[in-house]
This record gives sequence, structure tokens and C-alpha cells, in this order.
Amino acid sequence: MMFQRDLESLPKDELQALQLRRLQDLCARIYANVPFYQRRFDEIGITPKDIKSLSDIKYLPFTEKQDLRNNYPYGLFAVPKENIVRLHASSGTTGKATVVGYTQRDIDNWANCMARSYASVGLTQKDMLHIAYGYGLFTGGLGAHYGAERLGAVAIPMSGGSTKRQVQLMKDFGATALCCTPSYALYLYEAAKEAGINPQELPLRIGVFGAEPWTENMRHDLEEKLGIKAYNIYGLSEVMGPGVAVECMEGSHGMMHIQEDQFYPEIIDPITGEQLPDGEEGELVLTTLTKEGIPLLRYRTRDITSINNVPCACGRTFRRITRLKGRSDDMLIIRGVNVYPSQIESIIVEAEGTAPHYQIVLAKEGALDTVEVLIEVAENSFDDTIKSLQKREQKIQKTIKEFLGVTTKVRLVEPKSIERTEGKAKHVIDNR
Ligand code: ADP
Ligand code: ZN
Repeated sequence: MMFQRDLESLPKDELQALQLRRLQDLCARIYANVPFYQRRFDEIGITPKDIKSLSDIKYLPFTEKQDLRNNYPYGLFAVPKENIVRLHASSGTTGKATVVGYTQRDIDNWANCMARSYASVGLTQKDMLHIAYGYGLFTGGLGAHYGAERLGAVAIPMSGGSTKRQVQLMKDFGATALCCTPSYALYLYEAAKEAGINPQELPLRIGVFGAEPWTENMRHDLEEKLGIKAYNIYGLSEVMGPGVAVECMEGSHGMMHIQEDQFYPEIIDPITGEQLPDGEEGELVLTTLTKEGIPLLRYRTRDITSINNVPCACGRTFRRITRLKGRSDDMLIIRGVNVYPSQIESIIVEAEGTAPHYQIVLAKEGALDTVEVLIEVAENSFDDTIKSLQKREQKIQKTIKEFLGVTTKVRLVEPKSIERTEGKAKHVIDNR
């Protein structure tokens, strides 16, 4: 029996009944214990008792990242501090950090969600997980770690950094799975090659990659380079950490089952806040159904995706979200055209036939936005003549214009000239 497979395969009606019970309980808890929510409920004249069906959730107030910041550090905690056993903080990619607290039960649920996630991509207690997500306030490392132990697998707590040593130990210890950001996986691959280690000859067989947007092309490339199957995992510290949603082995194109018994998903129009039906793209909103430390009602993730309710061949009944393009605040507006960095990534990986290190540099020339796309060329093609490099630059420029409608200046740069990161890659530099 796979880890908690019965829960993940609950018949739809039972799942919805469970979600409703938990939603009602959540509202009662936050109304009684978090003054912020009590005020919000009172303002719109709703009490927890008014929630009679799951669809009533649309009448409830949202929670935004700014609300966590305004109530920094502990204002949204719903239990006394003696019941909290752990703190984490978001990486602060988009501003001031936010703090979250976990009760012992929250930590347990999280470990279960991660263990399910591993099982979902084919890992078992026989596996050894090389965990290169950062350990610390960032939820990646410890989240991945507790899940591995809960599954009964071996957790190898590498954390980020010492990349050379990482590849050596990956080889020595014989890790069968790698957990890190996709950009760090690429960096590890390069370091392995430099050290004369061929990753394809290692026992490594599965990659569990997330914490930043990546593309289908990047997946194919990582699978080929590392000789593994690569899977997509999603999470965010405000809601729990990694393991909120994950791919399965039947899945395709990065679609991830949401752990719906724990998190109730909605998609909304980011402008109007209206709920959108399954299948339509919008902002993902998550309600933590069981969390005790810092339960969140209708948390606006700013992540853009859609919900797919087509039954999955794996038998899990949890709905899936489609691969995330990036957050709404990652979206670049270039001369009036909306573009996500991941869309540019997708084009350059395809053009180069290899996962690139790239950077998008935005500047202003007079009133106009200019976009420079720096792409590292592969080691073996740097000797190409200037002429042939220029040709390649123009070709990529043309494809970006054709597919995304924005004019860019593509520049191929020397191998290793773009900075490597151990965690989330920084693909955009905005000098506007
Ligand atoms: P921060 O918001 O400071 O980056 P987190 O570490 O909690 O803090 O990051 C969570 C965010 O990372 C998500 O909201 C999402 O934007 C991004 N993310 C996580 N996993 C994925 C994934 N598989 N694909 C795309 N984006 C992801
Ligand atoms: Zn599935």
C-alpha cells in the first residue's frame, strides 16, 4: 500500500464532505482566536455558522501576503505560543519576509504531505534522497527532510552550497533521488561534469524539483542530462511549504495533484476577485483546512495557473493544477505586452537544445522599455565564429518576437558568465 493512498483516492462526495467539515471548523477556529479574522467576518456580517456548503467560501474574505506583513510577526497565529514547535519564514523573493508557525500536528501533516508527494512520483522506503534545498528558515530543506523520513526512505541533509562536494557525495552515497530547485539541478550537473563524474552512471533515478517556475523543455533537458525522471512539486511557506501539490507518474506537462484534503483550492480573476470555473486560468487561492499554527483563509498566492478536474489515470481524486508560469508579480509588461520569464525560457531552451543559464535585463531608453536577453552558450559552441553566433542570436530574437510579440535584443555570452544560484534563480534584472 502506498503512503496514504486511500486518502488521496477518496470518492468525490466523501472528499467534499470532509472539506466542508474542515472549512467550518477552520472558520470557527479563526473567528474565535484571530482578531484579524474576527474583524473581517464582522465587517461583512458573516459568522462561521453561515457556512453551509463549500460554495459559500466565495463570500468569505481573502487573506493577502500584505496581511501577514501587517501582522508581523505573530498577529495571525491562532494558538498560544506554547503550542508552536517550529517557525519558518518565506524567502522574501518579493519583499519583506513573512513568518509562519507550526504546531506538532502541523509538522506531522506536512511530513505526510511530503511523504505522499514522494510516493506519488515513485519513491519508496528503499530510496535515498539527496536533499539540496536550503535548510533553515526556508521551508524547502526541512520540509523535504521530514517527508523522506516519514516515508521511511533515507534523508541526506545536504542543504545548499559546497556544490563540488555535493556531487562527490552524491556519487559516494549512491543517492537515488535529488530534491532541489531545477536551476540548482542544472548547476549540479555542470559541477559533476567538471569533476569527471557522469551523472548518468550514478544510481540517481528521480528528481523532485520545485520552488521556482520551470518549463517542460527544461524538464526534458534535465532528464536527459542527469539520466532521471524529473517531477514538479509546488508549495509555499505561507500555506505550509513544499508538498502542497505534486505530479504523479501518470501525469503530463507538469500538472500537479493538490492535497485537497488539506488545502481547498480556488482560481480567481486576479483583478475582480471573482471565482473562475475549473479549466480557466487565474490566480490560485488556497485555504488551509487543517492548519493550526497559522491557518489561512482564502490565501491569495499570486501564482497563476488553472485547475484541471479531468480524472487522472493514477486513481487519485484530488484535482490538478497546471504547471505554474510564474507569479502575477513576475509578469513583465514590456511595451504593453504581458510576458512571463518562463515563456522566454521555454523558447531559448528549445532554440539552443539545452537548458540555458539566462538573464532578462530590462532598461529604459527614453520612454521605451528595452529588453536584453543574455544566454550563455554551451562550452562546445563558444568557438563558433562571430558570424554564426550572430545568426543564432537573430534566430532566437525572431522566435521570441513571433511567439510572444515582444522585441528583445538577444546576446549570447560566454560559458559560466551568468551567476549560479543554490536556491531560486534570479532570471530578471529590472533597471527601469
Ligand atoms: P517566497 O515567496 O519568498 O519565494 P517561498 O519559498 O514560500 O517564498 O516560495 C513559494 C513560491 O515559489 C510560490 O508561491 C511559487 O511562486 C514558487 N513556486 C514553488 N514551487 C513552484 C513550482 N513547482 N513551479 C513554479 N513556481 C513554484
Ligand atoms: Zn495522477
